[in-house]
Amino acid sequence: MMIKSTNPFSGKKVNTYEAHSLQGTSRIISSVDKAFHSWRNTSFQQRAAFMLNLASILRSKKDELAKLMAIEMGKVMREGIAEVEKCAWVCEYFAQNAETMLENEPIETQYSSSFVSYQPLGTILAVMPWNFPFWQVFRFLAPTLMAGNTAVLKHASNVPGCALAIEELVREAGFPENVFRTLLVGSSLVEGIIRNPAVKAVSLTGSTPAGRSVAAIAGSELKKCVLELGGSDPYIILKDAPLEQSATICATSRLLNAGQSCIAAKRFIVVDEVYSHFLEHFTDKMNEARFGDPCDPEITMGPLARTDLRDELHQQVVKSVKKGAEIVLGGEIPNLKGAFYPPTILENVKPGMPAYDDELFGPVASVIRVKNEAEAVKVANDTPFGLGAAVFTKDTVAGSRIAELQLDAGCCFVNDFVKSDPRLPFGGIKQSGFGRELSLQGIREFVNVKTVVVK
Ligand code: NAP
Repeated sequence: MMIKSTNPFSGKKVNTYEAHSLQGTSRIISSVDKAFHSWRNTSFQQRAAFMLNLASILRSKKDELAKLMAIEMGKVMREGIAEVEKCAWVCEYFAQNAETMLENEPIETQYSSSFVSYQPLGTILAVMPWNFPFWQVFRFLAPTLMAGNTAVLKHASNVPGCALAIEELVREAGFPENVFRTLLVGSSLVEGIIRNPAVKAVSLTGSTPAGRSVAAIAGSELKKCVLELGGSDPYIILKDAPLEQSATICATSRLLNAGQSCIAAKRFIVVDEVYSHFLEHFTDKMNEARFGDPCDPEITMGPLARTDLRDELHQQVVKSVKKGAEIVLGGEIPNLKGAFYPPTILENVKPGMPAYDDELFGPVASVIRVKNEAEAVKVANDTPFGLGAAVFTKDTVAGSRIAELQLDAGCCFVNDFVKSDPRLPFGGIKQSGFGRELSLQGIREFVNVKTVVVK
């Protein structure tokens, strides 16, 4: 089988690669498993030295890596460069903090000694999406390797060049051979890879259906999994919100990565008193996006990653309009070569429409009018997802209370858009998955929390 990458701007083939067979993946996994037995015995200082090398190589190659993302999945250069810098940050963060995070913890008991020790599990499989082709992998890779695990990556089939580049960067940083390897395979081989006895756990970032399938297989093997899945993040605009500023933040969040982010703002829930004003500012901001060639530095929004994904998004818009949603902005496929979709705003969005019930993975905003704060919270939580959420208000005490106690999501922000950060736990509830990445919680997902007692 071949794996092919296509430039979503030009429609031209980028490259074709021979995929690994299941036997081929078994050979690689067996080398990675062998590497685990020596990697687990390296000190935190040794691992940190490789990780810091990796960070500086990433920084030195940020332009060329951003170009690779632009070509394979349409990310604009500015965002690609920022993504690579964030990968360097996560490498540095775990290089500097892993040892403290995984230090033995003494516990007072009647024994002469008792403590908790955090031991690596072995080879961990990462199944990753194309939308942040470097960041999604690095936020898994840095804590996983620092904890003493080894890892294999099955990346999304449309970004094989990024997948191979990551393997090469790890090699270049001086990590021992086979501590991290890329498997070039389609999703049909994931089951066989999870069932490989040398694979001890799996981390998947992707859609809810992919998560459900991977969780079922991992469950049948009694292997742990961490799932970072889709979202339909609600952003609540209360009557005392600074409207212009909130509208700018909301539009930025909706349009980042051409709207293809799990934690992009997707549903905008606005209280009646400020609805018209907010919509006016928000429409202006959404309209400012300039879409075109992602390699052109003037361009703020590239094409979507694939034309089939663009067409699927458009169908969600069409179906919502058929059920009564109204188009305020965009909503038509532009007459351009490339997988473009314009910034789009839908209002009068109601339950039963894809724009209300489902994840819209592109630059389409669903605006929902509500009577008051209580109704806003109810609508925000009226979703099968629970990844991020935000609330905009001048009253930060009230905002913090809503974020902490009322919104059913894994990451809740007040007066800003939801962002991932190496220092903060990241993940969702409900159909957005379970487990956490990043921070102390993230690095402790793939370890044996071992109790040691000495009489
Ligand atoms: P996707 O289609 O689910 O693919 C993600 C990865 O899973 C790819 O490597 C894909 O391989 C693989 N895959 C797909 N179906 C599978 C199956 N049945 N069994 C095993 N593996 C399977 O998702 P995507 O379109 O790449 O990414 C967009 C989705 O990811 C959105 O829903 C988004 O919200 C979510 N996401 C979540 C987070 C988060 O942190 N929560 C972050 C980013 C994205 P192939 O490419 O070979 O099909």
